[in-house]
Amino acid sequence: YIAKRKGSGLVIYDPAIDQSSQESLSLLSELRRALERDEFMLYLQPKLELCSGQVVGAEALVRWIHPEKGFIGPDNFIPFAETTGFIRMLTLWMMEQVARLSEQLQQQGVQLKFSVNLSTRDLLDQELPTAFAAILQRHRLQPAALCLEITESAIMDDPARAQNTLERLSNMGFALSIDDFGTGYSSLAYLKRLPVDELKIDKSFVMKMAQDQDDAKIVRSTVDLGHNLGLRVVAEGVESEEVWFLLRQMGCDQGQGYFMGKPMPVQHFLAWREQWRAPDMLDQSENMAV
Ligand code: C2E
Ligand code: MG
Ligand code: MG
Ligand code: MG
Repeated sequence: YIAKRKGSGLVIYDPAIDQSSQESLSLLSELRRALERDEFMLYLQPKLELCSGQVVGAEALVRWIHPEKGFIGPDNFIPFAETTGFIRMLTLWMMEQVARLSEQLQQQGVQLKFSVNLSTRDLLDQELPTAFAAILQRHRLQPAALCLEITESAIMDDPARAQNTLERLSNMGFALSIDDFGTGYSSLAYLKRLPVDELKIDKSFVMKMAQDQDDAKIVRSTVDLGHNLGLRVVAEGVESEEVWFLLRQMGCDQGQGYFMGKPMPVQHFLAWREQWRAPDMLDQSENMAV
């Protein structure tokens, strides 16, 4: 270590820290460049009504197609985008893509509801609702055509601030969803007070619920909790027909997962939607229920 003089005192100069801040700087400029060069891509993952098998919409998920490093998933840059504030640009970019697509589809008479993810930082951004309003106006869209997903942990980071922003977004007419529900230690008192429409059960409980009795119990009680509070309940991480069937029996409203479709580029999603057929098992269970 080299001691550097700073003000009156001595600070320890750590070359490792310096190197990592250099890396951060270059990652931030790479992200900015990625936006300019159109390297981000909108992916869509279908959301389906479990009782009918009908496609009701899709979740918008970002991908970064890096010219040298190739395909980069959101977990590898969203946290960094959050700490640097870059997330605001990305959130607005996603909203713009989704709004444009939504407008195109509405003109073709296709009604699909798209969900956009917000981050913790977005909830603290006082100007976000106004920026959203401008995008929607440009595309002649009603906010009700879109859903905003906010993770439970993002809300619990600063519940009072979150409540304020969520109320503004809800008053504008956006549908709101609590994402990754079950992983963020939210208090039920807050849940009751927040202007949300949907609970999205985290995939960690859903994926193994056919094998793990405890997971199945957690999912069942979350479905009941959501319904008792008047909320729509969605399960993410539906990886098999068996899980679909279980969720349906529990009365879960919607599902999303690899069994139906992985996140895919827009054109793939539209083609997928044309050929999607709900599994036969749905008809059989209809008869069984009678
Ligand atoms: P999320 O919002 O909870 O999105 C669901 C994640 O679960 C997606 O991962 C999706 O690919 C994955 N998933 C869905 N069904 C299944 C399944 O059946 N099995 C498995 N193993 N995984 C499934 P993805 O696309 O990698 O996104 C990860 C997270 O990154 C998202 O979690 C979200 O928190 C964040 N993210 C993605 N795009 C955006 C964005 O545009 N803005 C913000 N703020 N966050 C984003
Ligand atoms: Mg989400
Ligand atoms: Mg989620
Ligand atoms: Mg998740």
